[in-house]
Amino acid sequence: MGYCPKCRYEYEDHVHRCPDCNEELIESLVQEDPELAEKRFVPMPGLPGRVYAEMVKSVLEKQGIPCYIRADGVTDTLGISGTSPVAGTVRIFVPEDRLKACINIQQNMLNHI
Ligand SMILES: [Zn+2]
Repeated sequence: MGYCPKCRYEYEDHVHRCPDCNEELIESLVQEDPELAEKRFVPMPGLPGRVYAEMVKSVLEKQGIPCYIRADGVTDTLGISGTSPVAGTVRIFVPEDRLKACINIQQNMLNHI
């Protein structure tokens, strides 16, 4: 199986060159989104709990900003609510180039809670 890197069309094994683009076929199109792979993720200021983090994360994702949540210290595998002081700080990691916008969003949301 081969794929054209240009038009992404899939060809049979015996085809080695895309007749449309005259491109040599490659074995697989499976590759990381180059834009995403290049991004470096940096932590935002800590949030008092996972509940807040989930809220901010959902807003960021709605804006098309990839992000993930990581809790410092104590893990909350027991489902301990982040409002407890022992739950530790929860941080959202966002792409470095979006950090400023993300902090603005987070700050805005915290102001309205
Ligand atoms: Zn092609």
